[in-house]
Amino acid sequence: MERYEDSQLYRIRHSTAHIMAQAVLERFPEAKIAIGPPIEDGFYYDFDLPRALTDDDLKAIEKRMRKIISQGHEFVRKEVSADEARELFAGQSYKLELIDGLEQGGVDEYGEKTDQALVISTYTQDSFEDLCRGPHVANSREINPKAISITFKAPAGAYWRGDENREMLTRIYGTAWETPEQLQEYLNLLEEARKRDHRRLGQELGLFTFNQEVGKGLPLWKPNGAILRDLLERFLRDVQIKRGYEPVITPHIARIALFERSGHYPYYKDSQYSPFEVEGDMFMLKPMNCPHHIHIYRSDLHSYRDLPIRYAEFGTVYRYEKSGELHGLTRVRGFTQDDAHIFCTPEQLEDEFLGVVDLIEFIFNGLGLTDYRARIGIRDPESDKYVGDDANWNKAAQAIIAAADKRGLDYRVEEGEAAFYGPKLDFIVRDVLKREWQISTVQVDYNLPARFELEYVGEDNERHQPIMIHRALYGSLERFVAVLIEHYGGAFPAWLSPVQIVLIPVADRHIEYAEQVAAQLDARGLRVNVDVSSGRIGAKIRTATQQKIPWMLVVGDQDIESGAVSVRLRGGEDLGAIPVENFIEQALAIVNNKSLELQ
Ligand SMILES: [Zn+2]
Ligand SMILES: [Zn+2]
Repeated sequence: MERYEDSQLYRIRHSTAHIMAQAVLERFPEAKIAIGPPIEDGFYYDFDLPRALTDDDLKAIEKRMRKIISQGHEFVRKEVSADEARELFAGQSYKLELIDGLEQGGVDEYGEKTDQALVISTYTQDSFEDLCRGPHVANSREINPKAISITFKAPAGAYWRGDENREMLTRIYGTAWETPEQLQEYLNLLEEARKRDHRRLGQELGLFTFNQEVGKGLPLWKPNGAILRDLLERFLRDVQIKRGYEPVITPHIARIALFERSGHYPYYKDSQYSPFEVEGDMFMLKPMNCPHHIHIYRSDLHSYRDLPIRYAEFGTVYRYEKSGELHGLTRVRGFTQDDAHIFCTPEQLEDEFLGVVDLIEFIFNGLGLTDYRARIGIRDPESDKYVGDDANWNKAAQAIIAAADKRGLDYRVEEGEAAFYGPKLDFIVRDVLKREWQISTVQVDYNLPARFELEYVGEDNERHQPIMIHRALYGSLERFVAVLIEHYGGAFPAWLSPVQIVLIPVADRHIEYAEQVAAQLDARGLRVNVDVSSGRIGAKIRTATQQKIPWMLVVGDQDIESGAVSVRLRGGEDLGAIPVENFIEQALAIVNNKSLELQ
C-alpha cells in the first residue's frame, strides 16, 4: 500500500496549507507564520495573529484560497543556505528559530526531531514562500477548489513547539480532497463526530465534569457517570471471577525504590509526577500497578500446582500529560485501568494468552464493539529504552505470534510498539464512524519476573521463574467510557443506561399513579425517574429524548384505568399502551440479556 506521505492527496493538502498561509498573510500582513503540515484527513497552519479570527475572516480566507488555486500557480523548489534563508524570512521569528534548528541539525522544518541531514529548501507559489522540504503538487491546478474547506470552528490554539511556556498561536485547520463529493462526505462525518463528542455529551448527560480548582485533566464522575462506570466494572468483574481471576487492592503511592527496581524510574520519569518525601524516604504516585501485584505474588511461596495465578484490580494510575495535550476523558492525568497480572509456567503461557484474547473478544462483542483489529508490537531494534535480554524478548514475541495465529486473528506486526519490558498484542477498535481507538493490551513479560526474582517450586522440587502476562481489556476506564459515549452517541444499550426509564405523567393528577408504577419498576431492579416538572408533555418527551433515556412511559387517565403505561422509545417509536407487568417483563429481558436493541 502506498504511504500517505507519498500520495497525491498528501501533496494536495500540503500545498493547500501553503495557499491558506498566503491568504492569511494577505489579510494580516503583520501576521507571523509558524508551521503548517499535512495531517490525517487535512492540514493545519499555526499563526501569530494581531487579533482573534471572526467567521467573516474565515469565509474571506477560504474564498481567497479558491481564487489562488484557480489562478494556476506553480510550486517552485529552491535550495538555500542558512544565511540566505534568514534573509528570506527576516522578521518571521518562528521561521528564524526553525532555520537555526535546521542549521544545527537534528530537527526538521517543523521543529520535529530527525536523524536525517536536511538541506534547507523553500517552496514558492505566487507571492508566498515557505521554508519547506515538500512534497507539493507541481501546479495549484491539481487542487480542486471545490474540494477544499477550512474546518476551524471553535477557537483552536496551540503552543509554539507544544511548549506551554511559549507563545499561544492560532491554529487554523483545513481539509482538501480530490472531489467535492469526498469533501462533503468528510464534512458530514465531522458534523456527526461533533454531535457525538464525549466532552459535550458527558456534560449534557450528567456523566462527568472538570473543575479548574480541582485541576486540569482530573475528571469528576457525576452520579450518572459513576453508575455507567460501575456497570462496566461489574460486567468485567463477574466474567473474571468465572474465569479464575482473584481480586487484589493496592495503594496509589509507593516508595520510589520499587519503581527503580521495576525499571519505570528513571527511564519513564518524563511521564510521571515528581517524587515526594515522606519521613526521609522518597515516594511517588504509581504510574503502573505491576510492581504492587508482583509483591503480592512474592508474599507467599508458590508451587507449580498454584499456577496460574491471576490477580485483577481496577487500579488508578497517574501519568503526567502536558496541559496542551489533555483532552476530555481520552487524555487525563489520573485514570483507572482494569489491570490484571497472570503468573504462569512456560507450559501454561499459550493457554493463558489465548484465554485473555477470548475474554477480550467476549467483552467487545458484549458491548457492541464488533469491528476491531489486532497489532503485535515488538521492540525497535535500534532503541535502548527496553529492559531484558534478547533471548527473552524473542521467546515472548514468538509466543504472542503463535497464539495470534492459533486464534486466527487479523493482525499486523509493528516495530517499536512494545512495552519497555516485553512485546504486546493490542486491540484496536473501530467505532461507528470508523475511527480507530487502541483499547485492550496483552503483554508477555519475562523481564519483571527476573528483576523481582519471582519463583515457584516446580514438579522437580526446584525453583523456577514464572512468566508474567500483563493485560487490560478496557485499558483506561476513562478513555473506554469516552469511546462508548462516542460510539453510541450517548444512547447506550438499556443495561448500561444510567436512567433506563422515565415516567411522564400527562397532568398533575397522574403523578401518584406514575410514582406507584415507578416503585414497582424500582423493586424489580430497573433504574427509573418520574418527571414531575410542570412542563408540557411534548417538552418532557423532548428532555427525555435528549437524555437518551431508552424508555419513556407516558401515563394518563386511560392508562390508570387499564393498569397500563404508554411506551415510547428514545428513537421516537410509539409502542402504544402495555400492561405494567408486561412492560416490566419485556424491559427486564432486554436488560438482563444485555441486548443492544430496545425491542
Ligand atoms: Zn510546507
Ligand atoms: Zn502490568
